Amino acid sequence: MLIVAALGGNALLQRGERPGAQIQQHHVVDAVAQLAQLASGNELIVTHGNGPQVGLLALESASDTTLERPFPFDALGAQTQGMIGYWLVQALNNAVPSRDAVALVTQTVVGPDDPGFRHPTKFVGRGYEEDEARRRAMAGQWTIRQDGPLWRRVVASPEPLEVVEHATIESLVHAGTIVVCVGGGGVPVVRDQQGKLLGVEAVIDKDLATSLLARLVDADVVLFLTDVGGVFEDYGRPSERLLRSTRVEELRAHSFAAGSMGPKVEAACRFVEATGRRASIGSLDDVAGLLEGSTGTSVTK
Ligand code: ADP
Ligand code: MG
Repeated sequence: MLIVAALGGNALLQRGERPGAQIQQHHVVDAVAQLAQLASGNELIVTHGNGPQVGLLALESASDTTLERPFPFDALGAQTQGMIGYWLVQALNNAVPSRDAVALVTQTVVGPDDPGFRHPTKFVGRGYEEDEARRRAMAGQWTIRQDGPLWRRVVASPEPLEVVEHATIESLVHAGTIVVCVGGGGVPVVRDQQGKLLGVEAVIDKDLATSLLARLVDADVVLFLTDVGGVFEDYGRPSERLLRSTRVEELRAHSFAAGSMGPKVEAACRFVEATGRRASIGSLDDVAGLLEGSTGTSVTK
């Protein structure tokens, strides 16, 4: 089987943890112990989030007074792909020495006219009191929005349309190589009228980009690995209930939290609708069960 597994940003850094290198590498080794079970007897593509990491780099860049302007998000996204990709590949080399593993810096094409550019929604970096947020927004040409009691920078999160390197990813994975790619949803790029690629200020949703890649490489199954046991109905209420085995129709009849479970459910539905195959959403702690269908939420047509 060709398996595509998406690793949540929380797998690398749990909520409240300081974003140092050591703790993240430690979490990567744990995650890879699970991923290694998928590699046995299968072709494997691993994608990953980069929310906390790209937020940190953006802050560092914005506070560097030697720079004329901070690094744009396409460049920051590429930096996080290199770092996280390196950690994952090294852990895979150690856990699965019989297989090659590579990390590919991946570009994801978005539409220049995507409505996301006019209405940025994706929160990045930390929250500030309103005055300070407005001051930083002026200085850094940010768009800001209120997030609970604080204000945060928001960037565009346009729809992923094409994974530029998908054919290379497919040939590598068919050759038996474990491929780490589409980190943070891929580096956001647009094509100009001549078809030339150009980076843009955006952060692409990693679950939607993973679903797109899975369709492009004709994957047999997609696993969205996160820090909850699956998709819950009435999540967080006393009546909450884990959806064990569900259909696209049933999921589409509910609404799920934007920015967390919402995009995972949408990404799973898109893959299942397009291919008639299965997608599963569940905990990184039992990847074998998720593949087998004995744990988590499995989505079928
Ligand atoms: P990841 O880094 O894996 O993408 P997210 O934080 O984006 O993680 O999404 C997983 C989170 O979604 C869970 O930790 C949970 O708090 C939240 N969540 C929101 N709604 C639901 C739901 N209906 N069922 C399960 N989890 C949900
Ligand atoms: Mg997420």
